[in-house]
Amino acid sequence: MSTFQEQLFGEQSFVQFTLDEAFIEGRPSLIIDNNVVVELWDNGVLCFHPQGGTLKNSILLSVGVHGNETAPIEIIDQLVTDILAGKVAVRQTLLIVIANPKAIKAGRREIDENMNRLFNGALTGKDEDSDERRRSRTLMDYSRDFFGMDAHKKIHYDLHTAIRGSVYKQFAVSPNAGGRAETGHQCLLLGQWGIEAILTTTQKSATFSAFTANTLGVTSFTLELGSAKPFGKNNITEFAAIVTGLREMIGGDVDLAAERKVAKRFIVAAEVSKKTEAFRLLFASDIVNFTPFNVGDVLATDKDYQYIVTKSGERILFPNENVAIGQRALVIVRPDENYTENTL
Ligand SMILES: [Zn+2]
Repeated sequence: MSTFQEQLFGEQSFVQFTLDEAFIEGRPSLIIDNNVVVELWDNGVLCFHPQGGTLKNSILLSVGVHGNETAPIEIIDQLVTDILAGKVAVRQTLLIVIANPKAIKAGRREIDENMNRLFNGALTGKDEDSDERRRSRTLMDYSRDFFGMDAHKKIHYDLHTAIRGSVYKQFAVSPNAGGRAETGHQCLLLGQWGIEAILTTTQKSATFSAFTANTLGVTSFTLELGSAKPFGKNNITEFAAIVTGLREMIGGDVDLAAERKVAKRFIVAAEVSKKTEAFRLLFASDIVNFTPFNVGDVLATDKDYQYIVTKSGERILFPNENVAIGQRALVIVRPDENYTENTL
Protein backbone atom coordinates (compact mmCIF):
# COMPACT_ATOMS: atom_id res chain seq x y z
CA MET A 1 0.00 0.00 0.00
CA SER A 2 1.29 3.44 -0.82
CA THR A 3 2.09 5.88 1.98
CA PHE A 4 0.08 9.04 2.62
CA GLN A 5 2.92 11.09 1.12
CA GLU A 6 2.86 8.96 -2.06
CA GLN A 7 -0.90 9.33 -2.31
CA LEU A 8 -0.58 13.12 -2.20
CA PHE A 9 2.73 13.84 -3.92
CA GLY A 10 3.81 10.62 -5.68
CA GLU A 11 7.55 10.04 -5.35
CA GLN A 12 8.18 13.64 -4.35
CA SER A 13 8.23 15.63 -1.13
CA PHE A 14 5.74 18.46 -0.59
CA VAL A 15 8.26 21.11 -1.63
CA GLN A 16 9.48 19.19 -4.71
CA PHE A 17 5.86 18.65 -5.75
CA THR A 18 5.13 22.36 -5.22
CA LEU A 19 8.14 23.54 -7.25
CA ASP A 20 7.16 21.17 -10.08
CA GLU A 21 3.73 22.82 -10.16
CA ALA A 22 2.27 19.32 -10.33
CA PHE A 23 -0.86 20.48 -8.54
CA ILE A 24 -4.19 19.24 -9.92
CA GLU A 25 -7.36 21.30 -9.46
CA GLY A 26 -10.03 20.11 -7.06
CA ARG A 27 -8.50 20.02 -3.59
CA PRO A 28 -7.29 16.41 -3.32
CA SER A 29 -7.72 15.17 0.24
CA LEU A 30 -7.28 12.11 2.41
CA ILE A 31 -7.58 11.10 6.04
CA ILE A 32 -4.36 10.28 7.90
CA ASP A 33 -3.66 8.95 11.43
CA ASN A 34 -5.68 10.34 14.36
CA ASN A 35 -8.58 11.24 12.06
CA VAL A 36 -6.84 14.26 10.53
CA VAL A 37 -8.10 15.42 7.13
CA VAL A 38 -5.33 16.64 4.82
CA GLU A 39 -6.38 18.87 1.95
CA LEU A 40 -4.23 20.38 -0.78
CA TRP A 41 -5.94 23.75 -1.30
CA ASP A 42 -3.62 24.95 -4.04
CA ASN A 43 -0.05 24.58 -5.19
CA GLY A 44 2.02 24.95 -2.01
CA VAL A 45 -1.01 25.40 0.25
CA LEU A 46 -1.65 22.37 2.47
CA CYS A 47 -4.24 22.16 5.27
CA PHE A 48 -4.36 19.64 8.14
CA HIS A 49 -7.69 19.53 9.90
CA PRO A 50 -8.12 17.26 12.96
CA GLN A 51 -11.74 16.11 13.23
CA GLY A 52 -13.87 16.16 16.36
CA GLY A 53 -12.97 16.99 19.95
CA THR A 54 -12.61 20.44 21.48
CA LEU A 55 -12.04 23.66 19.57
CA LYS A 56 -8.53 23.70 18.11
CA ASN A 57 -5.98 26.46 17.58
CA SER A 58 -5.51 27.55 13.97
CA ILE A 59 -1.82 27.83 13.10
CA LEU A 60 -0.53 29.20 9.80
CA LEU A 61 3.10 28.38 9.01
CA SER A 62 4.40 30.22 5.95
CA VAL A 63 7.84 29.99 4.34
CA GLY A 64 9.50 31.11 1.12
CA VAL A 65 7.97 34.59 0.82
CA HIS A 66 11.56 35.29 -0.24
CA GLY A 67 12.63 32.49 -2.57
CA ASN A 68 16.30 32.31 -1.55
CA GLU A 69 15.60 31.83 2.18
CA THR A 70 15.89 28.07 2.10
CA ALA A 71 16.25 26.90 5.71
CA PRO A 72 12.58 27.45 6.64
CA ILE A 73 11.55 25.69 3.40
CA GLU A 74 13.65 22.65 4.33
CA ILE A 75 12.26 22.70 7.87
CA ILE A 76 8.66 22.72 6.61
CA ASP A 77 9.33 19.99 4.03
CA GLN A 78 10.66 17.71 6.76
CA LEU A 79 7.73 18.58 9.01
CA VAL A 80 5.19 17.60 6.34
CA THR A 81 7.07 14.37 5.63
CA ASP A 82 7.10 13.54 9.35
CA ILE A 83 3.42 14.36 9.81
CA LEU A 84 2.42 12.17 6.84
CA ALA A 85 4.63 9.35 8.17
CA GLY A 86 2.88 9.53 11.56
CA LYS A 87 5.95 10.83 13.42
CA VAL A 88 4.28 14.12 14.40
CA ALA A 89 0.65 14.08 15.55
CA VAL A 90 -1.43 17.04 14.39
CA ARG A 91 -3.75 18.19 17.17
CA GLN A 92 -4.30 21.77 15.94
CA THR A 93 -5.65 22.99 12.63
CA LEU A 94 -2.65 23.73 10.48
CA LEU A 95 -2.17 25.56 7.20
CA ILE A 96 1.25 25.26 5.59
CA VAL A 97 2.11 27.74 2.84
CA ILE A 98 5.05 27.74 0.43
CA ALA A 99 4.57 31.38 -0.46
CA ASN A 100 6.61 32.04 -3.60
CA PRO A 101 7.39 28.79 -5.46
CA LYS A 102 8.49 30.54 -8.67
CA ALA A 103 11.16 32.53 -6.83
CA ILE A 104 12.26 29.43 -4.88
CA LYS A 105 12.61 27.49 -8.14
CA ALA A 106 14.64 30.34 -9.63
CA GLY A 107 16.83 30.51 -6.48
CA ARG A 108 15.98 34.20 -6.18
CA ARG A 109 14.61 36.41 -3.44
CA GLU A 110 11.87 37.53 -5.84
CA ILE A 111 10.82 37.32 -9.49
CA ASP A 112 9.43 40.85 -10.01
CA GLU A 113 9.19 42.53 -6.63
CA ASN A 114 9.51 42.03 -2.87
CA MET A 115 6.47 39.94 -1.96
CA ASN A 116 6.65 40.99 1.68
CA ARG A 117 5.48 44.50 0.70
CA LEU A 118 2.40 43.21 -1.16
CA PHE A 119 0.04 41.84 1.47
CA ASN A 120 -2.37 44.71 1.16
CA GLY A 121 -5.87 44.46 -0.30
CA ALA A 122 -5.51 47.92 -1.85
CA LEU A 123 -2.95 46.55 -4.29
CA THR A 124 -5.53 44.30 -5.94
CA GLY A 125 -6.51 44.98 -9.51
CA LYS A 126 -3.66 47.35 -10.29
CA ASP A 127 -2.57 47.47 -13.91
CA GLU A 128 1.07 46.80 -13.26
CA ASP A 129 0.56 43.20 -12.15
CA SER A 130 3.33 40.77 -11.23
CA ASP A 131 3.79 37.12 -10.22
CA GLU A 132 4.23 38.23 -6.63
CA ARG A 133 1.05 40.33 -6.65
CA ARG A 134 -1.06 37.50 -8.06
CA ARG A 135 0.31 35.06 -5.52
CA SER A 136 -0.05 37.43 -2.54
CA ARG A 137 -3.72 38.01 -3.46
CA THR A 138 -4.28 34.25 -3.54
CA LEU A 139 -2.54 33.81 -0.20
CA MET A 140 -4.58 36.62 1.40
CA ASP A 141 -7.75 34.79 0.26
CA TYR A 142 -6.58 31.46 1.71
CA SER A 143 -5.57 33.18 4.96
CA ARG A 144 -9.06 34.70 5.20
CA ASP A 145 -10.65 31.28 4.60
CA PHE A 146 -8.38 29.60 7.13
CA PHE A 147 -8.74 32.15 9.91
CA GLY A 148 -12.45 32.54 9.14
CA MET A 149 -12.98 29.10 10.66
CA ASP A 150 -13.81 28.91 14.37
CA ALA A 151 -10.68 28.48 16.46
CA HIS A 152 -9.49 28.69 20.05
CA LYS A 153 -6.37 30.76 19.23
CA LYS A 154 -5.29 32.06 15.81
CA ILE A 155 -1.54 32.17 15.27
CA HIS A 156 0.71 32.89 12.27
CA TYR A 157 4.47 32.40 12.02
CA ASP A 158 6.09 33.64 8.79
CA LEU A 159 9.57 32.12 8.66
CA HIS A 160 12.51 33.92 7.05
CA THR A 161 16.29 34.05 7.04
CA ALA A 162 18.33 37.18 6.30
CA ILE A 163 21.39 38.05 4.23
CA ARG A 164 22.62 40.55 6.83
CA GLY A 165 24.00 39.24 10.14
CA SER A 166 22.46 40.23 13.46
CA VAL A 167 23.60 40.89 17.03
CA TYR A 168 20.63 38.72 17.99
CA LYS A 169 20.96 35.71 15.70
CA GLN A 170 17.28 34.81 15.75
CA PHE A 171 14.70 37.53 16.23
CA ALA A 172 11.03 38.24 15.65
CA VAL A 173 8.99 41.18 14.41
CA SER A 174 5.58 41.48 16.03
CA PRO A 175 2.99 43.61 14.21
CA ASN A 176 0.42 42.95 16.95
CA ALA A 177 -1.14 45.80 18.87
CA GLY A 178 0.28 46.00 22.39
CA GLY A 179 -1.40 44.81 25.55
CA ARG A 180 -2.98 41.58 24.31
CA ALA A 181 -2.42 38.67 26.68
CA GLU A 182 -1.95 36.17 23.85
CA THR A 183 0.80 38.29 22.31
CA GLY A 184 2.60 38.34 25.67
CA HIS A 185 2.26 34.56 26.01
CA GLN A 186 3.56 34.03 22.48
CA CYS A 187 6.56 36.26 23.17
CA LEU A 188 7.45 34.11 26.19
CA LEU A 189 7.17 30.97 24.04
CA LEU A 190 9.37 32.47 21.33
CA GLY A 191 12.03 33.25 23.95
CA GLN A 192 11.86 29.64 25.08
CA TRP A 193 12.37 28.57 21.46
CA GLY A 194 15.61 30.57 21.23
CA ILE A 195 14.34 33.83 19.74
CA GLU A 196 16.65 36.41 21.34
CA ALA A 197 14.89 39.66 20.50
CA ILE A 198 11.36 40.74 19.59
CA LEU A 199 10.59 44.04 17.92
CA THR A 200 7.03 45.29 18.31
CA THR A 201 6.04 47.57 15.47
CA THR A 202 2.65 49.08 14.89
CA GLN A 203 3.84 51.08 11.87
CA LYS A 204 1.78 50.50 8.74
CA SER A 205 3.26 47.66 6.76
CA ALA A 206 2.21 45.21 4.06
CA THR A 207 4.12 42.16 5.27
CA PHE A 208 2.33 38.79 5.40
CA SER A 209 2.35 38.80 9.22
CA ALA A 210 1.09 42.40 9.41
CA PHE A 211 -1.79 41.47 7.10
CA THR A 212 -2.93 38.52 9.22
CA ALA A 213 -2.46 40.51 12.47
CA ASN A 214 -4.11 43.75 11.40
CA THR A 215 -6.79 42.54 8.99
CA LEU A 216 -7.65 39.11 10.42
CA GLY A 217 -6.96 39.67 14.13
CA VAL A 218 -4.37 36.90 14.31
CA THR A 219 -1.39 36.82 16.71
CA SER A 220 1.36 36.97 14.10
CA PHE A 221 5.13 37.08 13.90
CA THR A 222 7.79 37.38 11.23
CA LEU A 223 10.61 35.14 12.44
CA GLU A 224 14.15 35.87 11.23
CA LEU A 225 16.03 32.67 11.92
CA GLY A 226 19.58 33.29 10.74
CA SER A 227 21.47 33.59 7.49
CA ALA A 228 20.18 32.72 4.02
CA LYS A 229 22.09 29.87 2.36
CA PRO A 230 21.47 27.69 -0.73
CA PHE A 231 19.50 24.44 -0.45
CA GLY A 232 21.55 21.71 1.22
CA LYS A 233 23.97 24.17 2.87
CA ASN A 234 21.87 24.89 5.95
CA ASN A 235 23.00 23.62 9.32
CA ILE A 236 19.65 22.40 10.55
CA THR A 237 20.94 22.08 14.14
CA GLU A 238 20.94 25.92 14.30
CA PHE A 239 17.17 25.72 14.00
CA ALA A 240 16.63 22.78 16.38
CA ALA A 241 15.00 24.80 19.19
CA ILE A 242 12.45 26.48 16.96
CA VAL A 243 11.69 23.22 15.13
CA THR A 244 11.06 21.49 18.45
CA GLY A 245 8.84 24.36 19.56
CA LEU A 246 6.75 24.27 16.40
CA ARG A 247 6.36 20.51 16.59
CA GLU A 248 5.23 20.67 20.20
CA MET A 249 2.77 23.38 19.34
CA ILE A 250 1.27 21.37 16.47
CA GLY A 251 1.16 18.34 18.75
CA GLY A 252 -0.83 20.42 21.21
CA ASP A 253 1.37 20.26 24.30
CA VAL A 254 3.00 23.64 24.81
CA ASP A 255 4.17 24.58 28.27
CA LEU A 256 6.31 27.43 29.48
CA ALA A 257 9.39 26.08 31.24
CA ALA A 258 10.09 27.42 34.73
CA GLU A 259 13.62 28.40 33.75
CA ARG A 260 13.37 29.66 30.24
CA LYS A 261 15.29 32.10 28.13
CA VAL A 262 13.55 35.43 27.71
CA ALA A 263 13.71 37.46 24.52
CA LYS A 264 14.73 41.12 24.80
CA ARG A 265 11.92 43.45 23.75
CA PHE A 266 12.33 46.41 21.44
CA ILE A 267 10.09 49.11 20.00
CA VAL A 268 10.54 51.36 16.99
CA ALA A 269 12.19 54.68 17.88
CA ALA A 270 12.11 56.05 14.33
CA GLU A 271 11.79 55.06 10.69
CA VAL A 272 13.97 56.94 8.25
CA SER A 273 12.77 57.27 4.64
CA LYS A 274 14.83 58.11 1.62
CA LYS A 275 13.50 61.47 0.41
CA THR A 276 16.01 62.38 -2.31
CA GLU A 277 18.89 60.86 -4.28
CA ALA A 278 21.22 62.62 -1.83
CA PHE A 279 20.26 60.11 0.89
CA ARG A 280 23.20 58.37 2.59
CA LEU A 281 23.67 55.98 5.50
CA LEU A 282 26.78 56.89 7.49
CA PHE A 283 27.94 53.45 8.57
CA ALA A 284 29.49 50.40 6.91
CA SER A 285 27.20 48.70 4.39
CA ASP A 286 27.82 45.25 5.93
CA ILE A 287 26.83 46.35 9.45
CA VAL A 288 24.77 43.76 11.35
CA ASN A 289 21.16 44.26 12.46
CA PHE A 290 20.70 45.55 16.03
CA THR A 291 24.14 47.25 16.11
CA PRO A 292 23.99 49.85 18.92
CA PHE A 293 25.06 53.49 18.49
CA ASN A 294 25.97 56.30 20.88
CA VAL A 295 24.13 59.53 21.60
CA GLY A 296 25.32 62.13 19.09
CA ASP A 297 26.16 59.65 16.30
CA VAL A 298 24.81 60.72 12.89
CA LEU A 299 23.27 57.67 11.16
CA ALA A 300 21.75 59.10 7.99
CA THR A 301 21.76 62.29 5.95
CA ASP A 302 19.54 63.57 3.17
CA LYS A 303 18.95 66.95 1.57
CA ASP A 304 18.12 69.25 4.56
CA TYR A 305 17.91 66.27 6.96
CA GLN A 306 20.01 64.17 9.26
CA TYR A 307 19.24 61.49 11.83
CA ILE A 308 21.21 61.93 15.06
CA VAL A 309 20.98 59.45 17.95
CA THR A 310 19.34 61.30 20.86
CA LYS A 311 18.75 58.48 23.37
CA SER A 312 21.10 55.82 24.66
CA GLY A 313 20.26 52.26 23.63
CA GLU A 314 19.29 53.04 20.02
CA ARG A 315 20.14 50.31 17.50
CA ILE A 316 19.75 50.03 13.73
CA LEU A 317 17.67 47.48 11.81
CA PHE A 318 17.10 46.65 8.11
CA PRO A 319 19.33 49.41 6.65
CA ASN A 320 19.09 49.79 2.87
CA GLU A 321 20.37 52.88 1.11
CA ASN A 322 19.25 51.58 -2.30
CA VAL A 323 15.48 51.66 -1.80
CA ALA A 324 13.27 53.75 -4.09
CA ILE A 325 12.62 57.40 -3.19
CA GLY A 326 9.90 57.55 -0.55
CA GLN A 327 10.63 54.05 0.79
CA ARG A 328 11.90 53.17 4.24
CA ALA A 329 15.71 53.00 4.32
CA LEU A 330 16.39 52.41 8.01
CA VAL A 331 14.59 51.49 11.22
CA ILE A 332 15.91 52.73 14.58
CA VAL A 333 14.85 50.61 17.56
CA ARG A 334 15.30 50.99 21.30
CA PRO A 335 14.62 48.73 24.30
CA ASP A 336 11.00 48.68 25.43
CA GLU A 337 11.25 50.00 28.97
CA ASN A 338 8.00 48.26 29.95
CA TYR A 339 9.87 44.95 30.13
CA THR A 340 12.12 44.51 33.14
CA GLU A 341 14.01 41.59 31.59
CA ASN A 342 15.63 44.13 29.26
CA THR A 343 17.65 45.37 32.21
CA LEU A 344 18.94 41.93 33.27
ZN1 LIG B 1 12.81 37.21 4.04
